[in-house]
Amino acid sequence: NTRTRRKEEFKPITKGKVGIYTCGPTVYHHAHVGNMRSYIFADLLKRTLEMAGYEVNHVMNITDVGHLVSDGDEGEDKMEVGKKREGLNAWQIAEKYTNSFFSHCDKLNIKRPTTVCKATDHIKEQIELVKALEDKGLTYVIEDGVYFDTSKFQSYGEMAKLDIEGLQGGARIVDTGKKSNTDFALWKFSPKDAKRDMEWDSPWGKGFPGWHIECSAMSMHYLGDQFDIHTGGIDHIPVHHTNEIAQSEGATGKAPFVNYWLHNEFLQFGEHVKMSKSKGDTLTIDSLEDKGYDPLAYRYLMLTAHYRSPVKFTWESLDAAQKTLKNLREKAIEIKQNAQGRPLPDLRPSNQPHALVNMLDSFKSGLFDDLNSAISLKILHDVIKDPGLAVNGQLALLEEFDKVLNLDLFKEEASVDIPGDVIELAEARQDARTNKDWAESDRLRDEIAEKGYIVKDTPDGFEIKKA
Ligand code: AMP
Ligand code: ZN
Repeated sequence: NTRTRRKEEFKPITKGKVGIYTCGPTVYHHAHVGNMRSYIFADLLKRTLEMAGYEVNHVMNITDVGHLVSDGDEGEDKMEVGKKREGLNAWQIAEKYTNSFFSHCDKLNIKRPTTVCKATDHIKEQIELVKALEDKGLTYVIEDGVYFDTSKFQSYGEMAKLDIEGLQGGARIVDTGKKSNTDFALWKFSPKDAKRDMEWDSPWGKGFPGWHIECSAMSMHYLGDQFDIHTGGIDHIPVHHTNEIAQSEGATGKAPFVNYWLHNEFLQFGEHVKMSKSKGDTLTIDSLEDKGYDPLAYRYLMLTAHYRSPVKFTWESLDAAQKTLKNLREKAIEIKQNAQGRPLPDLRPSNQPHALVNMLDSFKSGLFDDLNSAISLKILHDVIKDPGLAVNGQLALLEEFDKVLNLDLFKEEASVDIPGDVIELAEARQDARTNKDWAESDRLRDEIAEKGYIVKDTPDGFEIKKA
């Protein structure tokens, strides 16, 4: 729990149920593989809670309103950056990248949240919340918008352990007219001389919601004023989540807004892998696929590390993960074939042979200990290797494990009949690649995609799959 900096026993607000809110993607560009680490983690959390018997209500937002590139309230609007880049309007940009995000989730076996909510569909709730804050005297209006007055919210910055005085003292207050550096926009006014693609009427004037208000408004709308778990990447601790707490607790007067805050560490990119969503040079799940990787190899790689540890992205580690996953699948499929016709043992505690239940318990105790997925993966390898286990016992365990890990352990390479013209295109593409004619190779890949197939490069040439 980031709020207490302690590992705590989870106690739900309502017995048997859990409410989780996950900060979703900002959809002005493809999510990069680092962003996807955050959603693999949230998915693992949800499935682990389900394994523990909880009914999970998982809510995730889509940040489709334009926000500013910097963490503060100035800089260029992200949606406008996308717009200039692609000649689409802000709504089209948002739709395009929301679809892209979910296609990446699907490839990573990330289950759709119970509720996916768009900021632009909840403007009313956001305005209501700003009004509630205004009624409590926690806001002020300046030229470019309505701001939260952090000096009026006593516990501001507590979770992040912010040095408020340090933040106020040294740094110059930006020229926006804010009273303090930590104050932040709740509602921004549209420029007087330009029409934005996304703007709405409000009691304060035409404009758009500030950067943080959507998550307070939508999480409370769907999960109540106080709820169990909130997730996001560690970068959200000092600003976004700090401001969410101030907005929610400020408006409702109820604390804590969230009982358990869980934050994932970053996927780090070395010099050789440049990563920046705003610069556009992103490494995405699609680009991994184009290079011949199974997206689930990336999921596997993320599961080998603890979510609170930084992970350095390297091609070598991804290669190793891909190889391990391939081996696991070969063995899992063999086990499944050998177990054919034998009934699966019941793994409920009172009905099972000991060894099986011990294995399942060890698997669970890894995950139940703050999502220590590396331990659970080790148990998976042990079960696959254990000569003492009957194959139907192994199969029952593997099926149970894969409900949480979601590595498609029983996935066989699909054998589909590939039409001759598609094979010819793939061969021409292979030639183009040999000649390092990347433009032609990309063009041929698109042509193959139009015919409904995906071509992947492998160490021995290429592989064609149905899209
Ligand atoms: P964004 O779309 O920029 O709002 O980011 C989506 C999620 O990805 C947020 O929860 C971020 O905290 C998280 N995130 C951003 N960069 C990384 C990274 N390199 N590794 C892991 N998580 C990240
Ligand atoms: Zn958020």
